[in-house]
Amino acid sequence: MNSAALQNTSYKRFDWAGLAWMFLFFWYFSGVTHLLLQITGATTFVGFRQAMVMSLLWLIPPMLFPHKTKAIAAVTGLVLWVFSLFSLGYFCIYQQEFSQSVIFIIFESNTAEASEYVAQYFVWWMIPAMLAYTAVAVYLWSRIRPLYLPRSRAWIASLLILATLFGYPLYKSMIVKKLQMELVMETLRNRMEPATPWHMIMGYLNYREQLGNMQELLAANSRIPPLAKLQDASAGQPSTLVLVIGESTNRQHLSLYGYPRPTTPKLDAMRGELEVFNNVVAPRPYTIETLQQVLTFADQENPGLYKTQPSLLNLMKQAGYKTYWITNQQTMTKRNTMLTTFSQQTDEQYYLNNSRAQNSRQYDNVVLEPFAKILQDTHPRKFIVVHLLGTHMKYEYRYPAEYEKFRDRNGAPDWLTDAQLPQYNSYDNAVLYNDYVVSSLIDSFSKTEPNGFLVYFADHGEDVFDSPPHSFIGRNEAKPTLPMYAVPFIVWVSDKWKTTHPHDFSKTLDRPYSTSHFIHTWSDLAGLSFDGFDPEKSLISEKFKEHPLLVGDPDAKKPLTDLRSFISKPKNKAAGGK
Ligand SMILES: [Zn+2]
Repeated sequence: MNSAALQNTSYKRFDWAGLAWMFLFFWYFSGVTHLLLQITGATTFVGFRQAMVMSLLWLIPPMLFPHKTKAIAAVTGLVLWVFSLFSLGYFCIYQQEFSQSVIFIIFESNTAEASEYVAQYFVWWMIPAMLAYTAVAVYLWSRIRPLYLPRSRAWIASLLILATLFGYPLYKSMIVKKLQMELVMETLRNRMEPATPWHMIMGYLNYREQLGNMQELLAANSRIPPLAKLQDASAGQPSTLVLVIGESTNRQHLSLYGYPRPTTPKLDAMRGELEVFNNVVAPRPYTIETLQQVLTFADQENPGLYKTQPSLLNLMKQAGYKTYWITNQQTMTKRNTMLTTFSQQTDEQYYLNNSRAQNSRQYDNVVLEPFAKILQDTHPRKFIVVHLLGTHMKYEYRYPAEYEKFRDRNGAPDWLTDAQLPQYNSYDNAVLYNDYVVSSLIDSFSKTEPNGFLVYFADHGEDVFDSPPHSFIGRNEAKPTLPMYAVPFIVWVSDKWKTTHPHDFSKTLDRPYSTSHFIHTWSDLAGLSFDGFDPEKSLISEKFKEHPLLVGDPDAKKPLTDLRSFISKPKNKAAGGK
């Protein structure tokens, strides 16, 4: 028989070139977008690698049914092509990777706005680019030829591919790491997601799941009774109050706090108008865990209260404010569900970061335009939350090239090794860019001559080789250091507001304070009181009482640590604190 003869000859010399063409064809539909993401430096290499490996999957059907190779490749290719147009189109418009957050935005935001956005970014060259993209796909398909190999070998090769793609990760997560089934499936989904068509399928599944979780949290929040006896010292007056939440910024790296490098020139220049608090720390070194306390009545001693008591957003709405949430943090990820829930408690949201991977390039200046727009809103009472990406890892993805000011050892501590220096420098550059963003927010706010104030602090700090033995970068709750918790905390108050809400901040600036009690400080600043308001927990109150600065995981068995013992340690001041 003819095909038997063919199989026999190919048994002797395998058609490697044929295999390469076939792989190239299937890889193409994920690869082009990933290649562009790499070339433009939009994200890390992980997605590229995963997409490449996952493309092996499509080799299996044509290997098992070689006489149908062309038809199988055509059908698979057509499906992949359709799905890939979404990620490639999305890249052309936003220079970013498609993610479940994009699906969330499409379904949850008003569609007129979404189509307006696409129209705004649509450029003529996208049509010929798509045609060229399709033409290359057709050409690659024309080069595909059947790979005849003995049946047993085809099966072995297929099983090897399946083992690489699924068997090994399953073995690692189930047997080695002993993860729960839910987490095992999540790991697998995350591995598949970068490749077409899984970016759409897994993206949609993730979106549905997280939407469900979020809706449950929102429903629970809506059942919480309002605060009793709410009184507003500025009731009926027009006012605009702004809360800017930063990210991973250790105050010891700000020249505003005495750091030798000029990392905050703009805030330094504004210093006379700012109340700069020197001893504020975060309760937890992680975004969600800390904001769960910052934005609610929960604290380290009562960590569950965020589920049963109104949030800061609920409070401001109850006080008659129109509430807004502008965020440059990832929109819809499993980890961020609680955050998205907070945002959904406000009246209007601006989601500006739809990256799939957290460590993607994204600059905070995107918040400035919606912020300026909201300031023009005619509603007399506005409460605006701006959530920045700040100085989150990867630091070099947080600022454009113009802000790459710190490149050498100048002003850097001696203990830094040559290997550590680039990351240390890019952290300081990120702080410099954060200075621009925060000062621009204050500038644009003050220009409207508002009746109100703006508070800025970071959700937590970051240890950038700062603590002895200077080998650790990041945050680790199990091994707390002051830089992981020490945050900048500044307040800008408008002249109008000062006349009706006089405060002498000077005696309060050095108070040791944890942002876990922030809701009391905010209420005090805003002139709000209610059952449950505790002036002893307000940083600016005359009745303020010093509380322990508890850090650690309140759900763990280990006792919490009082960070005040760290503040007196002189070695922690080495990173520039005066
Ligand atoms: Zn954070």
